[in-house]
Amino acid sequence: MSLTPEQRYDLLIIGAGISGLSMAHYATGAGLNARVLEQEQRAGGCLDSHRFTDELDGFWLELGAHSAFNSYGHLLALLEAAQALDRLQPRAKVGFRLVVNGAVRSIPSQLSFSELLLAPFRLLRLKKTGCSVAAYFGRIVGRRNYATVFEPAFNAVICQPAGEFPADGLFRSRPRRKDIPRGFTLAGGLQTIAEVLADGLPVQFGQTVRDLRRVGDGFMVEADSGQYHTRSLCLATPVADAARLLQKDFPQLAATLAQIQTATVESVGVAVPKAQLRLPPVAGLIGRDQAFYSVVSRDTVPDPAWRGFTFHFRPGVLDESGKLDCIAQTLGLPRSALIHVATKINQLPALRVGHGEWAQKLDQMLAGTRLALTGNYFTGVAIEDCVSRSRIEWTRLQREGG
Ligand SMILES: Cc1cc2nc3c(=O)[nH]c(=O)nc-3n(C[C@H](O)[C@H](O)[C@H](O)COP(=O)(O)OP(=O)(O)OC[C@H]3O[C@@H](n4cnc5c(N)ncnc54)[C@H](O)[C@@H]3O)c2cc1C
Repeated sequence: MSLTPEQRYDLLIIGAGISGLSMAHYATGAGLNARVLEQEQRAGGCLDSHRFTDELDGFWLELGAHSAFNSYGHLLALLEAAQALDRLQPRAKVGFRLVVNGAVRSIPSQLSFSELLLAPFRLLRLKKTGCSVAAYFGRIVGRRNYATVFEPAFNAVICQPAGEFPADGLFRSRPRRKDIPRGFTLAGGLQTIAEVLADGLPVQFGQTVRDLRRVGDGFMVEADSGQYHTRSLCLATPVADAARLLQKDFPQLAATLAQIQTATVESVGVAVPKAQLRLPPVAGLIGRDQAFYSVVSRDTVPDPAWRGFTFHFRPGVLDESGKLDCIAQTLGLPRSALIHVATKINQLPALRVGHGEWAQKLDQMLAGTRLALTGNYFTGVAIEDCVSRSRIEWTRLQREGG
């Protein structure tokens, strides 16, 4: 089959989440003929701000990522290059609360302060690397505090059971930009970041990549609209999709990727008239022994008429009706008040201790292949981890004559 010049690229990127978009920015910025193929009709992947219509008049809530920080230096550099820094909005400072036995409680009310007294000294003696979240933080804050507050809080942060996650993959200390609000979003939510970055990039939507093959001078990629040839290829998909696509021609890489398990999150967002709620403004709720890991609130960007909450449910616990009952009970509302509802299945990698060595091994396998892998399954799952990984892979591709 002969390909038209429009089907031949220097770099083809699969996936228009933040990982693929950042890779595309680096490549097009250097003058490469690049293209992004995205299966959905929108950019963003986990940056998914649901925008309601009709009487809600554009009120939005986050079905995926909700917080970006002034420590996200590589992301901010991309937004700066897109002249979008003046669109950042500070998030209102509201706190988190715990949900215990169905009731909303303050965090201090659940802490044992005597157990916390020695925490600073324990912190000095412990190393994060090689430790799980449970082993590291459990030793620092004490077993009781860990079980009653910290474990549920960490589960809420990464929307999965956090105990076996590597301690050094959870929070990463990065330099902060003082000219940027500490926590920020944009009008329309974090999905606007993806829209800003995708604007002007060669992204083709509604294109599921079904197969890829290595050919003499690059790769052949089969998508819905036909075949593409590319000198270099970047997979910016969730890890399970990357493993599946690489199975035929890169079986060793695929097997290594398949070692990473995927955590599923069943997310349900609801918008409710402000006047109907008695719950004070919150950034979010942390579920302890609940069917949900967390509830992310829109109170960080207050709206005059509406409030929004996204419940991130543990998978397979409640059916759709059970989830709505749970939401109504937690918010203190009749079930009939839940009219404006949006749902999404989210997926995140379940990283484990030893992940650093795993990533090193993977990078050794990638060396010299003109195949790049980026995503949230390298240093961590945060948006900035994704952009940083894309930058590393872009630098490698360039070095290797990408
Ligand atoms: C509920 C939740 C809350 C989070 N909160 C935060 C937060 O507050 N702050 C933070 O920093 N991070 C947060 N994260 C993490 C962060 O949002 C993600 O790790 C990051 O956005 C992942 O980006 P990505 O581009 O690697 O993958 P994705 O966003 O998953 O994008 C991958 C893209 O690839 C596409 N794709 C897949 N297969 C194919 C195919 N075969 N062909 C074509 N396209 C394909 C998908 O449609 C998707 O658009 C959160 C994540 C979740 C799920």
